[in-house]
Amino acid sequence: MNQKYILPTSIINILPDFIANQIAAGEVVQRPESVVKELVENSIDAGADSVAVVVRDAGKSLIHIVDNGDGMSKPDLELSVKRHATSKIYTSEDLEKIMTLGFRGEALASITAISQLEIRTRRNDEQVGWRLMSEPLNEIEIEPFATEKGTQVFVKNLFYNVPARRKFLHSNLTEFRHISETMLKFALSFSDKSFTYYDGNSLIFNLKPEPLITRISNTLGEKVALSLMEVGYDTDFIKIRGYIGKPHLAKQSRTGQYFFLNGRSIQSRSLAYSVFSAFEHLLEKNYQPVFVIFLEINPEHIDVNVHPQKHEVKFDDERFVFSSINKAVAEALSRNNLMPSIKLSEHLQRQPFESHPPGIKDSDKIIVDKTTGEILDFPKRSQQNYSSNFNYQHQSGNWKSTQQQPFQEKIPEVSAFDALFGKNENVSDSRSHDFTSSPVNSDTSIWQLHNKYIFAQTDLGLLIIDQHAAHERVLYERALKAMNREFAYAQNLLFPIRLKFSSPELSILKILENDLFALGFTFTIIGETDIELRTVPQDVKSGSEENALLEILTQFEEEKKIRISDNRDSLAASYSCKAAIKTGDKLTKEEMVSLFEQLFNCSMPYVCPHGRPVALEQPLADFDKQFKRT
Ligand code: ADP
Ligand code: MG
Repeated sequence: MNQKYILPTSIINILPDFIANQIAAGEVVQRPESVVKELVENSIDAGADSVAVVVRDAGKSLIHIVDNGDGMSKPDLELSVKRHATSKIYTSEDLEKIMTLGFRGEALASITAISQLEIRTRRNDEQVGWRLMSEPLNEIEIEPFATEKGTQVFVKNLFYNVPARRKFLHSNLTEFRHISETMLKFALSFSDKSFTYYDGNSLIFNLKPEPLITRISNTLGEKVALSLMEVGYDTDFIKIRGYIGKPHLAKQSRTGQYFFLNGRSIQSRSLAYSVFSAFEHLLEKNYQPVFVIFLEINPEHIDVNVHPQKHEVKFDDERFVFSSINKAVAEALSRNNLMPSIKLSEHLQRQPFESHPPGIKDSDKIIVDKTTGEILDFPKRSQQNYSSNFNYQHQSGNWKSTQQQPFQEKIPEVSAFDALFGKNENVSDSRSHDFTSSPVNSDTSIWQLHNKYIFAQTDLGLLIIDQHAAHERVLYERALKAMNREFAYAQNLLFPIRLKFSSPELSILKILENDLFALGFTFTIIGETDIELRTVPQDVKSGSEENALLEILTQFEEEKKIRISDNRDSLAASYSCKAAIKTGDKLTKEEMVSLFEQLFNCSMPYVCPHGRPVALEQPLADFDKQFKRT
């Protein structure tokens, strides 16, 4: 028999502040990286143009931030560590137009609840500064303190009073990588500011104000910087600027993708997809483009208050943002039409590369991706590498630090970043040759090799196209335009043709009915198996009308297996593959000239819908070199 409990009349109780704060802190501070992010955001919001960050034990035992921003007065300092204390918004309308990185007034309060915190700060207009010391469950202490203009924050022993949380922190290596990624994002977003970043006493980077492209070179690597295309797009609603990487930089992960919205790093799979889809077939399967893209949107049209760590935002009109990015990227790609050259067509090798920054022993060697600068591994890095030479002493409740400030540290000539990423690598950029119109006309020397490739003389040297791939490209673009209803592509058959289909074929036909119709296939389904076909697209060769539709459907199923794209795109690719001239077809000179003409009218003449090159060029100078004429 169930035992009966007698419930007390009241079982709800208000949690004491320190527990409530610990719970709330968990939202804001998930790991050392969150602290670094919040504190550097504060420094930037305070107008600092120079920020130094030192972490020890991957931030677990110490995070030290030094900025030269506005600093705080004593009353502000006292309030700064209280929950919901902020100087950044005053009214609920302010929440609608946030221009600062912070706004919730929760970071310092959260950090105070789960670590030992010290803040030193001085305003420019004050002679003397202040020091605040806080420790969970103890009274906050504030005293006058001689310090530089600006603010220094020391966060020690993060989560020391929340063992459950501390247990879930990852290895120092993993936590350190998270911090480094965040530092990298700040560095990219604010290339007009100085950033110094130390792991213990080893310098990770020391960046001075510089143009964005130089900042990219100094952080993501020179090779990346040399293979970027500029993106620019302006409307009343959105401004887009930044860089996208040429296709050969693409990676098999999204790690080279950086979006900043009004200076804030944001993550958005849908916007990343918008960039990806603009690359069309320029990317190999499973590869993701590299980009650093800045969006500026009136803050009234976005909501940054949707994610605890402010990583995600909501747009009033996400579709517009999506299509603007898509257009901006497509425009940059077509402006930089990449002509693969015979000599340079191999892809840059994505092989790991080992390097030893000066002073780093073999056992500490770091493996970085040579092409992108991504840190791939610190294989033998041991725990003690994280323990700093800075001499922080902690005696419970009364602790002081005796280290030099990082700003006063002697900074080595060669930054570890440079050493890691091999600044002086000699890299050759893949050339781009943009023909705005066909480089070939009826006076051009032109000939066909093995009924497969067409060779033509151009001003620069030799241009070669793959006849099937080239025609495929032409028809693919035509099909997409037809499906967008940009022109009528159908031609009437003299007599309607009756065709038989299996039931799986018929079901695909039904799914694609609208697009097929726009493409130029007009038909009526009769009964369970038959259709009556009345029109076909104009480029379907006479004599092959009867098989064209079935072949395209079969190809469509193949396409769907090998590519991730929408039905319309796969249908255009299937159609172009089946209707294009074949390898083995003999072409007249007129046909060849016309093929060049149509190809160079395409928006992307250099790749076929399957991503293979369509045209290659070989400059005359290369022949001269081969024949030792230079
Ligand atoms: P928020 O950034 O959302 O306002 P925080 O808890 O991060 O909340 O900071 C609280 C307040 O403390 C800030 O609004 C700001 O006025 C002040 N503050 C924090 N860090 C700094 C700093 N580095 N320099 C100057 N003021 C700061
Ligand atoms: Mg803040």
